[in-house]
Amino acid sequence: MTIISRFAPSPTGELHLGHAYSAWLGRQRADIWHLRLEDIDTIRCKPAFSAAIQEDLSWLGLAWDGDIRIQSNHFPDYTAALETLQADDLLYPCFCTRAEIARAQSAPHAVEGVYPGTCRHLPPQDRKKRIESGQTYALRLDTTFASHKTGNLRFFDESLGWVTAEPQRLGDVVLARKDTPSSYHLCVVHDDALQGVTHVVRGDDLREVTHIQVLLQALLGYATPVYVHHKLLLDAAGKRLAKRDKSRTLRHLRQQGADPAALLRQFENI
Ligand code: GLU
Repeated sequence: MTIISRFAPSPTGELHLGHAYSAWLGRQRADIWHLRLEDIDTIRCKPAFSAAIQEDLSWLGLAWDGDIRIQSNHFPDYTAALETLQADDLLYPCFCTRAEIARAQSAPHAVEGVYPGTCRHLPPQDRKKRIESGQTYALRLDTTFASHKTGNLRFFDESLGWVTAEPQRLGDVVLARKDTPSSYHLCVVHDDALQGVTHVVRGDDLREVTHIQVLLQALLGYATPVYVHHKLLLDAAGKRLAKRDKSRTLRHLRQQGADPAALLRQFENI
């Protein structure tokens, strides 16, 4: 079997050692390894960071295969995927502001981080009126309805074995934002399928989102890859490395004269 994987950073800052570990692990596992820049948030993502990512990977000696996929060049692809879901009546417009969502989430029975469903059952004429009056809206997945449609789903997580997908844990996620005609979940699922990714190698912090991404794959008729969620590297205080922590960025290490081969060798013992 040809193992196809990808490294998919968002160019919102400089890569740190944790990214290097993720990239190294993916490169090790894969026969074909793609670089994808997840830059649909055109405000937070900067071309300078995209360039730095390529420099850092080259410095580490981690060579990607084929062309770099730059998501912001492919909005029409994501719109087409969105339209497929829309045609199946799986999406609804959400007019809520952040403040309204935060207020609803503080209600006694609300589940933290899960959209409370305020706009799910708005009457059609109400939706129409709001849209015609120019109110902005996001598009959310009706996760309960979508899950009924697909029935039970599972995925293979290399550290856990077969896992039953529980997309309800994430609720009605946003698939098109008010300010961006797409979303992380939609783009990642679309591009993994397009690039024929067989193994998604990424950090443990993204384990939870797999539950919704597996549902989207089923709805869009895409295959579900194997998931490899690896440990996150921690700093001396036991906290996850962050892009804002300059001392751990690859650029800083490079400027300090670090040896990239030695740096990668230390990952072998993780
Ligand atoms: N772009 C995401 C991030 O930088 C990673 C997406 C993924 O690996 O699925 O956190």
